[in-house]
Amino acid sequence: AGEPVLGQRAQHRLTVVSGPSGVGKSSVVAQLRLLEPDIYFSVSVTTRKPRPGEVDGRHYHFIDRATFDEMAAGGRLLEYAEFAGNCYGTPREPVERALAAGKPAILEIELQGARQVRAAMPEARLVMLMPPSWEELVGRLTGRGTEEEAAVQARLAEAERELAAAGEFDARVVNADVKDAAAELLRLLTDDSKA
Ligand code: 5GP
Repeated sequence: AGEPVLGQRAQHRLTVVSGPSGVGKSSVVAQLRLLEPDIYFSVSVTTRKPRPGEVDGRHYHFIDRATFDEMAAGGRLLEYAEFAGNCYGTPREPVERALAAGKPAILEIELQGARQVRAAMPEARLVMLMPPSWEELVGRLTGRGTEEEAAVQARLAEAERELAAAGEFDARVVNADVKDAAAELLRLLTDDSKA
């Protein structure tokens, strides 16, 4: 009630990039940003603590749980999910504003959120970023060194679930090389026929 309803054309401009933690989503999306600055890249809210080097308002809006719950309850999140013990969500308004203005938008989110977007916006394009192999993913995730051992294990468990859902996506892109993967993603974005 009272929520703006976006037409099919606007929904079509929305691309969701998912993929297991450690697959390199952020690097690929950052590279895409260099290739195509005229895309709206959503900045999520999260209750996770910032990692070294992460900037509030740029990588995430870092918020507390009470604020998160308030945003979710107020319908201000387009989708949201709990992941490995923290909450994440996409602020609704900036995405809808970009799409309504004819700008493509990209959400970099995990699987549960991708499913919510699919249900709410069937014309959105869902892309899963895949590791070249499971061993490679384990190596990247354990080698990152930013997470506690328990968090790494939680992320590996989630990764297995995410990869098992690859078939639900419109397209899959293997990230063997960041530049190649970003170029492939850009091709998908500019292809009007979706999947
Ligand atoms: P990280 O803690 O590594 O930054 O993110 C953990 C996972 O949450 C990643 O898979 C990331 O894509 C996902 N994520 C980030 N923002 C959002 C969001 O707004 N919604 C959902 N559903 N997932 C998100």
